[in-house]
Amino acid sequence: MPAEGAPLPTCPQCGRHPLRPAIVLFGENLPAEVVHRAEQAARLADVLLVVGTSGIVYPAAGLVEVAAGAGAYCALVNTEPWGHPHPTSPRPCSGPAEEVLPALVTAATS
Ligand SMILES: [Zn+2]
Repeated sequence: MPAEGAPLPTCPQCGRHPLRPAIVLFGENLPAEVVHRAEQAARLADVLLVVGTSGIVYPAAGLVEVAAGAGAYCALVNTEPWGHPHPTSPRPCSGPAEEVLPALVTAATS
């Protein structure tokens, strides 16, 4: 991260385009191919763990509907409630991930 006010680093090939991290910022679209592959994986999943989100930002939030609709067990692990009612039956697991995830592993393996 450049210091505040410092010029942004530029593309090493052309020297003109500012470089940016390989992340998607709020207000930007996810790459369509990434969304498509995620939906395919959600459709084939037996279990979907959704950790650290209230599920209000689409299209990622829609992956729960895809997986649950295809019969996957969906566990929503978050300290806050899921952001909207759900047509299927995902399992809300309220609490911090560092506590809930080990408990899920214990429950699944004992
Ligand atoms: Zn360039």
